[in-house]
Amino acid sequence: MERVSDGSYHTTYKIGDLTVTSLRDGYVDMPVRRLRQPGDKPFGDDLPSQVPLFEGALRLSVNAFAVHDGEDITLIDTGSSNAWHPTMGFLPQALSEAKIAVDRIRTVAFTHTHLDHIQGLILPNGGDGFPQLCRLLVPRAELDMFRQEARLKRFHSRAEPFDPGQRLGVSIETIATPGHEVGHTCFRVTSRGETLLIWGDIVHVPSLQFDRPEVAWEFDADQEQARASRLRIMALAADNAWCVAGAHLDSPGVGRIFRTETGFRFEPV
Ligand SMILES: [Zn+2]
Repeated sequence: MERVSDGSYHTTYKIGDLTVTSLRDGYVDMPVRRLRQPGDKPFGDDLPSQVPLFEGALRLSVNAFAVHDGEDITLIDTGSSNAWHPTMGFLPQALSEAKIAVDRIRTVAFTHTHLDHIQGLILPNGGDGFPQLCRLLVPRAELDMFRQEARLKRFHSRAEPFDPGQRLGVSIETIATPGHEVGHTCFRVTSRGETLLIWGDIVHVPSLQFDRPEVAWEFDADQEQARASRLRIMALAADNAWCVAGAHLDSPGVGRIFRTETGFRFEPV
């Protein structure tokens, strides 16, 4: 896997015959108490000094990823649009900078249905983010949750559920990783023996959770299950030399994972 181009809002990589672009929707600042030690215990003075703080807050990148197989483009997650903090919603600029015409995005798939992943379906002006959208793929376990998002009402009936292990085309396969949310899914993208795992919210705070994968996130629907999924997926990626791409890894959020004596370590591509 190699990096082929980049800009302020995007970075493009080659994986075998595929092109994958990391798209920067922006960032969100979160209080330190969102980090949870086993037993749902927040950090206080014991927060490791390796975690950078921005005016006392954790800063999370928000990324989406476009997979281009030469014909079709599949967009995995869509950012927040104007539905949350104004520090997010830059996906349209990122696509434009990467020279990906929104008309060419015909498939959108969600790792899960939290708002920083799904709201980009609709532009701040109310228009469709992807006017030629044909397939809108939602984890089956979160179909009802998706259909409760009032802002996305016109997409409710268009959502097509997918199941764990289902292939979404020749080069993309889904892997169930429940915990952060009930239907949380990773997308395994492969071409010519190379693999990139687009893993959604397996990690929220990369400065801490590679080193200490037992640390969970307050917004995990099930912290225990999220912890187990994180450990399983990190081991799988490290032991098989898969690259990973994360929605909240520091932008562009693509790299390799290695085992350490106590946990894991991330190295950007
Ligand atoms: Zn998220």
